[in-house]
Amino acid sequence: MITLSADREEAIRREGERAYPNECCGIILGSIAEDGTSDNGRVVADILPIENAREAGEQYHRFRIEPEDLMKAELAARKRKLDVLGFYHSHPDHPAKPSDYDKEHALPYYSYIITAVEKGKAGDFTSWELKTDRSEFLQEHIKRL
Ligand SMILES: [Zn+2]
Repeated sequence: MITLSADREEAIRREGERAYPNECCGIILGSIAEDGTSDNGRVVADILPIENAREAGEQYHRFRIEPEDLMKAELAARKRKLDVLGFYHSHPDHPAKPSDYDKEHALPYYSYIITAVEKGKAGDFTSWELKTDRSEFLQEHIKRL
């Protein structure tokens, strides 16, 4: 389960609309409940929009976050006593479900938030977690604050 305030969700939706017809992407910062179980209390504290590092012609259906950007996010998180909880990106004119490409490039443990953007307007909003054996994504419940 991941807990998200309405304004953070709104911020991700707006990012998706701004990037349309390309994919937006970014990093999710927050905290994890002390008992460490992934289904128990991930709370989003902030989002960091990242420039999509894919070549321009691929950005309509792919995103990439460079290792340096992830490292900067890790340092920013640590300073604020937060963790990198995962990533968000948009699916322009596609359902808010992870693609095969997303699965190949994902890692277990992280949350992957996807917002669909239909004709420039943000639609379905979902979160996913890759199974530890990498066989499939499981949808993660989003608790709205
Ligand atoms: Zn995707």
